[in-house]
Amino acid sequence: MRIGVLAVQGDVSEHLSIVEKTLKEMKIKGNAVPVKKDLDVDVLIIPGGESTTISKIMKKTGLFDEIKKLDIPVMGTCAGCVLMDRKHLGLMNMGVKRNAFGRQKESFEADIKIKWFRKDYHGVFIRAPIITHVYGECRTLARFENRIVMAQEDNKIALSFHPELTNDTRIHRYFLSLIKNRRDHTNCTKFRTIF
Ligand code: GLN
Repeated sequence: MRIGVLAVQGDVSEHLSIVEKTLKEMKIKGNAVPVKKDLDVDVLIIPGGESTTISKIMKKTGLFDEIKKLDIPVMGTCAGCVLMDRKHLGLMNMGVKRNAFGRQKESFEADIKIKWFRKDYHGVFIRAPIITHVYGECRTLARFENRIVMAQEDNKIALSFHPELTNDTRIHRYFLSLIKNRRDHTNCTKFRTIF
């Protein structure tokens, strides 16, 4: 199993290490691999960073058009969440607003409730975007102060915070579970006890 982390700019090494930790916990044989050109991976993570920079570089290298067509599970966090929306990669039916929490609250941490998770999740928000709306098959998984901060459409997940900056691997576990469970995973009755 190859877990790709888009290695253009941003929180790449943090995602690589939490993926390694998650693979061990889930007893999955696999590797976390930085993706610069080669998209030969089973799942892809688009990390936080600067969405404009990441987007520019991806367009230059041709990765942008290739990622647009991906059918594998993809998770975008923070800047990655911005890039997943319909104006950028178009991987999910949602609109995203960058830097949506304004200057005063540019960065903060908060406990949030995530659908399917038994306990709250400690979210680290850094100049975070919000998901302004979801439509079609796209579903809200978490809100903070009534604003959507996590969504899922089939095997794609987007979140406006940074799961790689905590020791809590539940979001990466949830994401990796999409490889096997695919479309029907939200009907899995055991889910609450897993996460
Ligand atoms: N504000 C950044 C952007 O829009 C995202 C910040 C982050 O990834 N921490 O690209």
